[in-house]
Order: sequence, then structure tokens, then C-alpha cells
Amino acid sequence: MVSAGLRVQSRGSAYPEAGVAKARVVEINVNHQWCKSCGVCIEFCPRDVFVAGERDRAEAVRVEACISCELCERICPDLAITLVYDNGNGNHE
Ligand code: SF4
Ligand code: SF4
Repeated sequence: MVSAGLRVQSRGSAYPEAGVAKARVVEINVNHQWCKSCGVCIEFCPRDVFVAGERDRAEAVRVEACISCELCERICPDLAITLVYDNGNGNHE
């Protein structure tokens, strides 16, 4: 079945063909109350941003290497990861 017209759009890739700058992740927050130490984000982040910290809770230690792909935020089974973006105006959201 073809899902004609359906377009999945993320904050980080809004209309790249129109020349809109891709939002850049500047901060990665891991809610350690929710993280269950599954290691999924550590395993799948393409840039090795995360390491296992205390009690194997994920910690973002290489935020500067992040390519804003949003994978971690989407695959965390406990919704424990929040990406913070530079909105281009010097503010973060
Ligand atoms: S994917 Fe989520 S629950 Fe699993 S280690 Fe990473 S932050 Fe924790
Ligand atoms: S957005 Fe992508 S590159 Fe950045 S920390 Fe998450 S999985 Fe890694």
C-alpha cells in the first residue's frame, strides 16, 4: 500500500530542499529517573556520544560530536532522552 502524500518531518530536517538550516543539537539531557540502563542509545548512536555512567545510566559525554540525527530520542524505550536545539537566534529550545 502506498501512503501517498504522507511525509514524516522532524524538527531537525525541516524542508532541507528549501535551504532552511538544519537545527543543531547543543545539549542532550538524559532523565536518569526514567533511564533503565538498556544501552540502546549507547549501541546505536552513530557518533558514540553516550557512555554508560553510574549504574549503567546513559550519559552524553560527546555532545560536540552529535549530528542531530534524533535517533537516540526516538529509540529510547523510556523517552528518557531530550535533545535541545539551537534555534539560530542564540536561544535554545
Ligand atoms: S536508550 Fe534510554 S533507557 Fe536505554 S540506556 Fe539510553 S537513555 Fe537509558
Ligand atoms: S541525535 Fe544522533 S548523533 Fe546525536 S546523540 Fe542522538 S543518536 Fe547520537
